[in-house]
Amino acid sequence: MFPADSMANAERQALIAALQWHIDAGADDALADLPFDATTVPPPVAAVTPLPEAPVRKTAPAAPRPPDLVGTSEARAEAIRLARAATNLEELKAAIAAFDGIGLKKTATNLVFCDGNAAAPVMLVGEAPGADEDAQGKPFVGVSGQLLDRILKTIGLDRKEENPAGSIYISNILNWRPPGNRTPTPAEIELSMPFIERHIVLMKPRVLILCGGVSAKALLGTELGISKLRGRWHDYRSRCEGVAEAGFSVPAMATYHPSYLLRTPSQKRAVWHDMLMIQQKLLTPGDSKTN
Ligand code: URA
Repeated sequence: MFPADSMANAERQALIAALQWHIDAGADDALADLPFDATTVPPPVAAVTPLPEAPVRKTAPAAPRPPDLVGTSEARAEAIRLARAATNLEELKAAIAAFDGIGLKKTATNLVFCDGNAAAPVMLVGEAPGADEDAQGKPFVGVSGQLLDRILKTIGLDRKEENPAGSIYISNILNWRPPGNRTPTPAEIELSMPFIERHIVLMKPRVLILCGGVSAKALLGTELGISKLRGRWHDYRSRCEGVAEAGFSVPAMATYHPSYLLRTPSQKRAVWHDMLMIQQKLLTPGDSKTN
């Protein structure tokens, strides 16, 4: 190889390594439509084409802008205040859209609030939106969502079902996508808890499904891993002050996340066991107690 070739190759390798470093750090989304050198010129202004059917887009910043809440100790108090004030699902969605205390809102494309039937007796709570969910503004619409739909069908639950009896309602702990689909930080989970807890209160499901370790640990307030939590009934109770009325509780079944099952298909058997327990509870009239 000539020296010039090996130099070009080394530069290429260095560029690929730099790109990989950015992807690993979660910087996998372009925030401007065109590349630009930030050290010399202002970013080019690209024409914005409105989406044909708009799932809720981030709200435009109001003028004058309030002080930045992200990372402040007031952010959590503001999240609790907004969540408590919501008296129905529409108000809750608007409250989440208006909350500026979580940095993920700046990098996400769409708010991901819910999918399914709001009259369903079962509510499933996952972790956080991924790229597909962020693009469509709906939870569990990617590959793991397709597996989830197949699993739920085995016990007669379908998010598209209009009859509440066979329907399910789906949401996530986080309403905004973490860049690069990284695991949510403890601070992001903490800031999102008042909203998902209020969501559960407003839904008042007969049964909760906590899908994956992040959801189960956050909503059950435990450090136990998902393999210890799954397969038995828990008593979900709100942990954010004033978000639920005293004594509010819902039987909750924790189970493995479908993205884990895609990597570890041998655990499908365990999820099947969990689904049968959920079906059993739904078939037992008036049984909303844990056991
Ligand atoms: N994983 C989740 O936990 N939630 C989604 O909405 C999609 C993937």
